[in-house]
Amino acid sequence: MSQWFQLGKIRSRLEPEFANFMELWMIFGPPSSAQQDAPAYAIETVGLNKTYAASNRQPAHVALKDVNLRIPRGSFFALLGPNGAGKSTLINILAGLVVKSSGQVSVWGNDIDTHMRRARRAIGIVPQELNIDPFFTPREMLDLQAGLYGVPKSFRRGDEILKAVGLADKADAYTRTLSGGMRRRLLVAKAMVHNPPVLVLDEPSAGVDVDLRRQLWDNVREMNAHGVTVLLTTHYLEEAEAMCDTVAIINRGRLIACESTPQLLGRLDSKEITFTLDKDLTAVPDQLAAFNLEIIENRQLKFRYAPSKVSSGQILAAISAAGLTISEISTRETELEDIFLKLTSEPDAGADA
Ligand code: ADP
Ligand code: MG
Repeated sequence: MSQWFQLGKIRSRLEPEFANFMELWMIFGPPSSAQQDAPAYAIETVGLNKTYAASNRQPAHVALKDVNLRIPRGSFFALLGPNGAGKSTLINILAGLVVKSSGQVSVWGNDIDTHMRRARRAIGIVPQELNIDPFFTPREMLDLQAGLYGVPKSFRRGDEILKAVGLADKADAYTRTLSGGMRRRLLVAKAMVHNPPVLVLDEPSAGVDVDLRRQLWDNVREMNAHGVTVLLTTHYLEEAEAMCDTVAIINRGRLIACESTPQLLGRLDSKEITFTLDKDLTAVPDQLAAFNLEIIENRQLKFRYAPSKVSSGQILAAISAAGLTISEISTRETELEDIFLKLTSEPDAGADA
C-alpha cells in the first residue's frame, strides 16, 4: 500500500472533503510539486469592498473600495500603503478573520465564499500583532497548529521548520523569553506548518531588530525561491523596493498602483542630492548652470534630478570641473509621501475616496 494511499485514508477520516490525492499532494508535498495544478494567481480579488459598520463611538468606515488585485503565483509581492490604508483589512479577509462587504476573493483558486476551508489551507498568515501564547514552547506551538490543520503526526515537520527559521535551539524554550525578531520568525514557522503555497506577512518588520530582520528576510526569500508565493504588507518603501518583485500601492482603501518594482520606481524618476562645500558660494558656477539646483545658506548645493536623464556621477564631475571641494554628501530617499503625491496627482489616480 503506498504511503499516499495510507495518508489518503487518514485524511479522509479526519476531513472527508480532503480525500482527493491531488489536494493532499498540494498540501503536504513541496510547493513546487503542485505547480502542474496550480492557478496563475495565488490571490485574486475582484471588486472587493469592506465597510466597517458604525459603532456607538464611530461612524461607518470604508476600509476597502473596489479593490482588484492579482498576485501572480510565485511572486514576491508587496502591498504598500500608509497606516490606515486598509492593508490589514485585506489580509484579514484572506485569513477569514474579517468578513468582506462585497466582491470576490480567491486564494489559490478557491473562492472564499464557497471554499473557505480550502482557501485557508492554501495560505499561511503571519499577523501584524505578535500574539503568542506564553505557556507553550515553540515545539509545542507548532505541534498544536499542525493538529489544528489535521496534519498527521508522521507528516509533521515542526523541528525541520524551526531549524529553517533559525530557532532549532529554542525549540523547548519558553516563548516569553524570545525576542521580538524570534517571535516573528516563530509566527512564520507557525504559518508554514501546513505547508501552504502562499505565505502572507502583515507588517513583518514591526518590532524586529536589524540583524533578526535580515534573518527573517533570508528565510522568506528562501521559501520564495522554493516556489512559495509571498505577500507582505509594509509602510516602508525601501522594504518593498529591496525585497519584492511587484508592488501594489493602497491608499485610503483604494489600489492606486500595481506594477513591477523597477517600473514603479522608474515612474517616480526624481532624486535629490545635497553637497556641502568646504567654503561659501555666492553664485552658481557656469559649469553647473545646466542643472536644477539651489544654493542653501551659501554652503550647500541641492540638486534635483531625474535619474533616467542625469547620473549622480555627472553631477559630481561638474562640481569638480567648477573647482569646488565637497565636504559632505547627503541624499534623500524617496518617501512614500512622494509616491502618493505623484500617483494621486495623475489622472485616474482614484485616491479621492
Ligand atoms: P492598515 O493595516 O493599512 O494600517 P487597517 O486595515 O488596519 O489599515 O485599517 C484600515 C481602516 O479601517 C483604518 O481607518 C482603521 O481605523 C479602520 N478599521 C480597521 N479595523 C476596524 C474595525 N474593526 N472597526 C472599525 N474600523 C476599523
Ligand atoms: Mg495593518
